[in-house]
Formats: sequence, structure tokens, C-alpha cells
Amino acid sequence: MSDVPAIVATDVTRTYELDGVSVPALRGVSLTVEAGDYLAIVGTSGSGKSTLMHLLGGLDRPTGGTLVIGGRDVATLTPPEMARLRNETIGFVFQSFHLLARTTARDNVALPLVYRGIGRRERRARATEVLDRVGLSHRAGHRPNQMSGGEQQRVAIARALVTGPSVLLADEPTGNLDTTTGQSVLALLETLNEEGVAVVLVTHDREVAARARRQIIMRDGLIVGDDAGPAPASGPAPASGPAPASGPAPASGPGLASGPGAPSASPSGLDSLFPSASPSRARDGSGGGDAG
Ligand code: ADP
Ligand code: MG
Repeated sequence: MSDVPAIVATDVTRTYELDGVSVPALRGVSLTVEAGDYLAIVGTSGSGKSTLMHLLGGLDRPTGGTLVIGGRDVATLTPPEMARLRNETIGFVFQSFHLLARTTARDNVALPLVYRGIGRRERRARATEVLDRVGLSHRAGHRPNQMSGGEQQRVAIARALVTGPSVLLADEPTGNLDTTTGQSVLALLETLNEEGVAVVLVTHDREVAARARRQIIMRDGLIVGDDAGPAPASGPAPASGPAPASGPAPASGPGLASGPGAPSASPSGLDSLFPSASPSRARDGSGGGDAG
């Protein structure tokens, strides 16, 4: 099963229509995420990184081009089929965690299993297992506001993992964390990658990006650099090759230019990720109220 690439985007475009104005957020992007891959996406604010992540994860559909997730062309899928493909294939981690505020860590993690029709007892057992894996079994009964930012992000990672996804999409997952905490979250993502989960990571941090197997540089809705970094461990160094640093400096400016906690794109996408099945969907809303 793993000789099929996890995700293949071919000449994908995405144009937002906003009050009669067209915003071309992606202008023709081609990208393959191999099974077990580790990609970093960098680029200035507004370059289309989050839009691309939403597409790669099937939260949104392209305006043009072809997008194949887990071997399936999303253009052929109905919304319920998309939701199912997402639930089975993709885990999302966001900068601002997106945990349900009045729900315990365990129940936040268990939520994606609701859509699989798995019974409550089994859901809780699996959630507890995954919380243990991210080092948070002692926090299972705590609510997000009783946890540190780093712990909340670990809960979010556990929630992304509980369905056993083949791809983890992390959009600036350390953006709201201090350096040390961010490092430990990254280390966790890298461990998961070593265990075989493909990781696609958006980051403003060049050092972080340099740790990935490939670095994708975006600008103005296009990929302007695609650098397969150091060969994995034993492999021969890839010649003198494409100079990594020569490209446009990714986000030279003050890191988080877009400000903390701004999941801007497609709120309805988020809703469809975590539809209202939980006891306390509550005030976690990221702005949009359209249930999907
Ligand atoms: P990045 O994540 O790199 O900061 P985004 O993908 O969020 O970039 O945004 C790319 C472009 O698309 C920006 O010009 C942004 O303003 C625009 N954009 C993003 N989401 C929406 C939306 N839901 N509606 C309209 N325009 C959007
Ligand atoms: Mg973004």
C-alpha cells in the first residue's frame, strides 16, 4: 500500500471569491507527498501555505488542477466520501490547537472516533493509549485551560493520531509555543515520522525546516523552491546540489507575521473536521458557524 504516494497535487489552483473580488491564493502548485515523507513548507505570510495544507488534507477542494489523496481523485468524491477519506487518512495539527474548550483531553482525543461509529468505551480506551504515547496520560481528565500550551498541542497531536492517519499535516504547530516547548513538539512529530507517518509541516523557522527531508518554499501562491535536503542517514550526500539558502529568505521578517491564532482559511473546513457530535462543541468556534 505504501508505494502509492500519500498525496499528489498537480497544477492545483485555488481562488477565493470575496465580495466579488477574486483572490488567487494558489496559482498552479504541483507537489507529491510520498508515504512516510517529511516535508517542510516555508514562505512569507499570505503566500498560500495554509490554503495548500487545507487542500492536501481534503478540507477544501481545488478550483483547478488535480488532487489525489490516498489514491483517490477528490474531484470524484462526494462530501461524505471526502469526510471519510480525511478521517481515515489525514491528521491535522493547527497553530491554535482547536481543542474543544469544555471537554477533557481524553474526550477531545476520542472525538474523531465518533465518526467511525466506535463505541464510547473503546473510544476512551484508544484515546487514553494515544495520550500515553504523547506523554500526557496524567492529563487525560483535564480541560484545555488547565494545561500549558505545549500540553494542549500534544493533545491536538494525539487527536490527530487516534485514527491512525498515514499523513500528519501540521500548520505552524509551534507558532504559539515558546522555543523549548516547540522543540519538544517537533521532536514528537519527528518520532511519529520515524514510525512511518508522513509529516507535512508549515514553519517560519528555517532551522526547523532544515530538519525535514524536503523543503518547499512558497511565494505568491506558487512553489518557488523545492529542495530535497540532506540524504537520509546513510545515503550519499546529494552532490553539491541546489544551494539551500539561495532562495528567497523564508519569512525573514518577524516570524508570525499573520499573528497568533489566525486560522484564517475556510472555517467551514474546520467544522467539517470536527462536526458537532460532541457533548460540548461550545465556544471553540473559529468564527464561522456553518455546520457541515
Ligand atoms: P499563508 O498560510 O501562507 O499565510 P494563506 O493560504 O492563509 O497564506 O493565504 C493565501 C492568500 O489567500 C492570502 O492572500 C489570503 O489573504 C487569502 N485567503 C486565505 N484564506 C482566504 C479566505 N477564506 N477567503 C479569502 N481569501 C483568503
Ligand atoms: Mg497560514
